[in-house]
Amino acid sequence: MAYVVCRPCIGTKDRSCVEVCPVDCFFNIKKKKYNDQFGVGLSPDGEPGMLVIDPDECINCGACEGECPVIAIYEDSGVPEEFQQFVKINEEECASLSDDERDQTRCTQKPSK
Ligand code: SF4
Ligand code: SF4
Repeated sequence: MAYVVCRPCIGTKDRSCVEVCPVDCFFNIKKKKYNDQFGVGLSPDGEPGMLVIDPDECINCGACEGECPVIAIYEDSGVPEEFQQFVKINEEECASLSDDERDQTRCTQKPSK
């Protein structure tokens, strides 16, 4: 069991979620292909892509779910039909990261202003 980041994160990416995660299992995937695929612009700070949750590290605490201003985070068992493909996107993006990439993309705090 794990939580999943879904489409509304694309174009938002404000990172409220990462500040409450006790195990720091969010990764910042800066891939513009997701903006193109889902027809969404860059986030307000100009970043492409989305955050994802590593299902192998998530302890299913639920703390992040209520923090997201655009309701992008769901428990995997409750992901709405329209966002089902994001279960795989979160899994596959995390599984494809090398150790170095995990260090570089692990997201633990909001960007400083
Ligand atoms: S709080 Fe929501 S929109 Fe913001 S980075 Fe996290 S999942 Fe994405
Ligand atoms: S459910 Fe808990 S452990 Fe999993 S990503 Fe959210 S805050 Fe982190």
